Amino acid sequence: MSDAPPAVWRVALPLPLPRLFDYRPPADAAADPADVGVRVRVPFGSRELVGVVAGVGAPEPDAPEPKAALARLDPTPLLHGELLESLHWLARYTHAPLGEVLATALPAPLRRGEPVPDLRARAWRLTEAGATALPRLRPGRPRRLAERLAAGPAAEDALDLDLDGWREPARALARRGLAERIALDPAAVAAPAPRPAPIRLNPEQQAAAQAVRAAAGGFAAMLLDGVTGSGKTEVYLDAIADCLARGRQALVLVPEIGLTPQTLARFRARLGVPVHALHSGLADGERARTWAAFASGQARVAVGTRSAAFLPLPRAGLIVVDEEHDASFKQLDGIRYHARDFLLVRGKALGVPVLLGSATPSLESLRNAQVGRYAHLRLRARAGEARPPQVRVLDVRKRPLEAGLSPELLQLIERALAEGGQALVFRNRRGYAPVLLCHDCGWSAHCHRCSTPLKPTAMTVHGGGRRLQCHHCGARRPVPDACPDCGGLALQAQGAGTERIEEALAARFPGFPVLRIDRGTTQRRDALEQALAKFGDRPGILVGTQMLAKGHDLPNLTLVAVVGIDEGLFSADFRAPERLAQLLIQVAGRAGRAQRPGEVLLQTHHPGHPLLATLLAGGYHAFAENELALREAAGFPPFAHLALLRAEAKRAEAADAFLHAAKAQLEAAASPSGLRGEAVRMRAAGAWRENRDEGLPAGGRGALALHGPLPAPMPRRAGFQRAQLLLSAPERRALHAALDAALPAIHALPEARRVRWSLDVDPVDL
Ligand code: ADP
Ligand code: ZN
Ligand code: ZN
Repeated sequence: MSDAPPAVWRVALPLPLPRLFDYRPPADAAADPADVGVRVRVPFGSRELVGVVAGVGAPEPDAPEPKAALARLDPTPLLHGELLESLHWLARYTHAPLGEVLATALPAPLRRGEPVPDLRARAWRLTEAGATALPRLRPGRPRRLAERLAAGPAAEDALDLDLDGWREPARALARRGLAERIALDPAAVAAPAPRPAPIRLNPEQQAAAQAVRAAAGGFAAMLLDGVTGSGKTEVYLDAIADCLARGRQALVLVPEIGLTPQTLARFRARLGVPVHALHSGLADGERARTWAAFASGQARVAVGTRSAAFLPLPRAGLIVVDEEHDASFKQLDGIRYHARDFLLVRGKALGVPVLLGSATPSLESLRNAQVGRYAHLRLRARAGEARPPQVRVLDVRKRPLEAGLSPELLQLIERALAEGGQALVFRNRRGYAPVLLCHDCGWSAHCHRCSTPLKPTAMTVHGGGRRLQCHHCGARRPVPDACPDCGGLALQAQGAGTERIEEALAARFPGFPVLRIDRGTTQRRDALEQALAKFGDRPGILVGTQMLAKGHDLPNLTLVAVVGIDEGLFSADFRAPERLAQLLIQVAGRAGRAQRPGEVLLQTHHPGHPLLATLLAGGYHAFAENELALREAAGFPPFAHLALLRAEAKRAEAADAFLHAAKAQLEAAASPSGLRGEAVRMRAAGAWRENRDEGLPAGGRGALALHGPLPAPMPRRAGFQRAQLLLSAPERRALHAALDAALPAIHALPEARRVRWSLDVDPVDL
């Protein structure tokens, strides 16, 4: 007994290796099972890494003597309980190394090993110098903050409540000695009181709110399926207020472009407690502070984008996912998780309702509602004054187009402006023109590093026609003076992106402001809001991409025109119709949000296309009904479960060789004969049965099918040759069992060393 070696920590490290690493605790400490969830700093090769203790046990018998850890970083576990368990689930589900999952879940400072931020209440006050300097401060955020502090010290909580982004100005004032941060007696900070709703919920809203309140205290998945402007947000607010009244925490997940200052202001004005915003523009320190504030149970409401799904919620009461169909909830690199699906799993573990809201629910969620796995709450009419817009198709066959706009469309814009309204022209392609063509010889500019199955990818014309840019790899070069092939001077920009449409509209309507919103004009966070605020309610024209599909309310918008949708009607991606339908409905929903009635025009060369016909005649639900039938017939999600193994390499043969070898491993794992198959069945019966995935769609029984290897939709990107192997199974369990059984061998394949490869469970882009 006494010569048994002392226990070691099994540490999850942020490395792409599917295993844990043993370390002895630093001198004179002993490894204890209670250490699970504690961060530790350890030597790894010539580096030092921060990892999390995932287990404690005897050292591996034949392994070399474990090294000593350098330091224990937390007195008590940082990760524990539900969050740690859910992260274990996520690692199993994505088949990703636990260490990488844990690192993804932690805010950067904690991932680096920094201490958990001190949460004692803090406040800010003006110094004497600050009070003197106040009248001389230039207008701006520091001055607004100083004016606020001139009334007396303000708690950070209170500042969070009504001054978005106040921390940077506060630091700026502090650097100049004008303000200082002080400790505050928590008892001195009065708790803000919730404010009553300014409106009465209508009967449909009341029924939905009642259903959510009734579900409190246990897990329930609920789909709030309500047209744009039907008052879904009011239902969320009601549910959150109820959750707060029960002393619990609420988490609201929103898409990146949905988290506007307007949204936050609306939540803050109503809930009467600090509402913590979590988004990609947040400074690391704030992110860590918010994380700690939720871990301690002190913070009550978070509104955040994808990564907010990892917030600790020890006093959880409610989870809301707004715009649940939004593609931004799926992370496309690193740990390829889906925040909505992860939150359903967490909601189950936490025993709280998960409310998914959308005007255009994903086909997955609609299906779950249809079969009764989710409660289906519907809001069929717009709330308040707003009327639904008139939608019609504008047939542009044989019409002369100016920057892609038909004469009829231009006339309707003119009328909207003359009547004092605003018009929005939606075109989901930024840049000046999609193609640069030589009119003499037919040469066109394409990227040297990217290609699709049929041809090299065209470079988009930017900079008013002076610059070429590849939207796939970012390559840029100037537009040549003459055709590189024939030397002719007849180079022409073909087609129209947002830039060119903006140019044409500005020339045509010189008396009106034309504002373009796309990633080219609004790189910075908040830039969109500022631009829209400046644009105001005056008559004018907005031109933009997807970024305009939601967010900021535009009460004076009376005309929405969608142009250039035809390419989307014929995409090979099986999700393309769903995405297009959602986008059309979302964009259309922007019109007529207030008293003024709205008109929506879909400009197309295919006015009879079934997707458009169904959407116009029956709305999104008729479309979804059709599309679900097609998916079922074709064996696609939500009637099958997919995983995608991707590989890329400088040489196409290397990517193919890896995928073929991986396929052989998967075939062996999935085959019902032989030892491997036996292992698969045993794992299927064990690990995956107890999985908490009831909130997620499940399939019937069935076997794994492997498709490929095939070239990726973009087989060459940034000089890399790319291929993929698609796994599909009617039953989720079969898919995971095969992956569980085959992945260790796939990791060890000699072919794996010559490629970059990744696995994507539930891929959204095939
Ligand atoms: P959604 O989130 O479904 O798009 P919102 O909650 O933003 O809808 O509501 C749309 C508009 O209707 C908002 O201006 C909101 O204040 C208003 N509204 C919502 N519910 C009601 C109601 N019951 N009575 C009057 N106005 C309402
Ligand atoms: Zn030429
Ligand atoms: Zn490229």
